[in-house]
Amino acid sequence: MNFEPTQEQLSVREMVATFARNEIDPHAAQWDREHTFPEPLFHKLGELGIMGMFASEAFGGAALDTVSTVLAIEELSRADAGVGVTVSVQGLAERIIEAFASDELKRRYLPDMCAGRWLGAFALTEAESGSDASSLRVSAQRHGDEYVLNGAKQWVTNGGYAKVFIVFARTGSDGPKGISAFLIDRDTAGLSIGRVTRKLGIHSSNTVDLILQDARVPASALLAAEGAGYRIALANLGSGRLGIAAQAVGILAACLETSRRYAQDRHQFGRPIGAFQAVSFKIADMAVDLDAARLLLYHAAWMRDRGMPVVDASSKAKLFASTAARKHAAECVQILGGYGYTDEFPAERYYRDAKITEIYEGTSEVQRIVIARELLGRLDERTAGDRPARRPGPSTVQRDGEGRERRPAARRDK
Ligand SMILES: Cc1cc2nc3c(=O)[nH]c(=O)nc-3n(C[C@H](O)[C@H](O)[C@H](O)COP(=O)(O)OP(=O)(O)OC[C@H]3O[C@@H](n4cnc5c(N)ncnc54)[C@H](O)[C@@H]3O)c2cc1C
Repeated sequence: MNFEPTQEQLSVREMVATFARNEIDPHAAQWDREHTFPEPLFHKLGELGIMGMFASEAFGGAALDTVSTVLAIEELSRADAGVGVTVSVQGLAERIIEAFASDELKRRYLPDMCAGRWLGAFALTEAESGSDASSLRVSAQRHGDEYVLNGAKQWVTNGGYAKVFIVFARTGSDGPKGISAFLIDRDTAGLSIGRVTRKLGIHSSNTVDLILQDARVPASALLAAEGAGYRIALANLGSGRLGIAAQAVGILAACLETSRRYAQDRHQFGRPIGAFQAVSFKIADMAVDLDAARLLLYHAAWMRDRGMPVVDASSKAKLFASTAARKHAAECVQILGGYGYTDEFPAERYYRDAKITEIYEGTSEVQRIVIARELLGRLDERTAGDRPARRPGPSTVQRDGEGRERRPAARRDK
């Protein structure tokens, strides 16, 4: 097994880390405090090739491999997790446009998106439809050469600043097969931005409601085909989840660095607090989980680069990294004591930012459903009548020497 990143991957990491140190670190606390969306920053990231790292060169992108993109999002999120998610969602939109839009639409949108001049957004969630995305209700009705969309989307990341929206709407029957995806321009009549969401963390990211009131789009705005929307959403959630896993890894790396430095500098009882095992063990556990989260993440990204399916691997990476980020951000606050609870140090920001990684792009419960289904199949969708006929084979019932049924032995691992 080769765990060495390539020279190109290392250069991307170094370039983004340097950019983050100079252009993000000095402002992150203020953006958080003032809920500032740092729009000009994304123009600069466009010049560096980072806003277009997901798209191919034919449309002005940098066509980086998945490993490089997660390294870049990790480094951005280490400085500011709000910036990390903005870039991750840009990637989601670019990938969908490149894979499913017509050539004309690709040429119209991708070059400016890659340059960081235009942002993209992904609008799936509604007030009554979250984890169960297949129940969404925003409607798209065909009238001649147009579709007319009605309804409201909720919590659309980048929405207030986006030029282009990937909107999922119902064109047919209930359930996943009646859902279609559309590429909708910001200037479409009938499209408006509603309430800006006030959030616990990631204040430098923008989250809004999207309102569609008789919004008319040409039939060419339909991506792939009618009824393909749910498949498009699911197919891209895998790489979206890698983006959020990278965001969580970045927050975790920042927690480790802040905790390590503080444990060396802060003295109590005549010695650095890192000399107390109660503190140093927290830091050791943080380092182990950071390494484990990185391995899961980089491995899943590496698989994607080889065309392997990543549904399971991306869910595992996101589940582990987000759980670790939330847990260790709390420990980071604890290591900093009272200072950790104030905005004089970034620990409280990491604590607030980490939580969202367990919620969006599929909650931790949903990731466990995905992982369990890979192992067990869709047992939850079977009824008793579907139960496969029992094949002859070794019995699972244990019997003693006289053929009496034996109760399972008590578990010894508890
Ligand atoms: C800041 C922010 C940004 C977001 N950005 C976007 C975006 O850009 N685009 C977009 O489309 N959406 C976005 N979302 C929405 C996000 O993806 C959803 O919040 C998420 O999928 C969960 O949906 P929900 O909030 O409706 O929770 P619900 O689905 O109502 O879940 C509530 C609780 O029930 C649990 N639960 C639900 N179903 C099951 C089940 N079958 N088994 C076990 N537990 C279950 C969940 O895990 C959760 O703990 C964003 C949300 C936030 C907060």
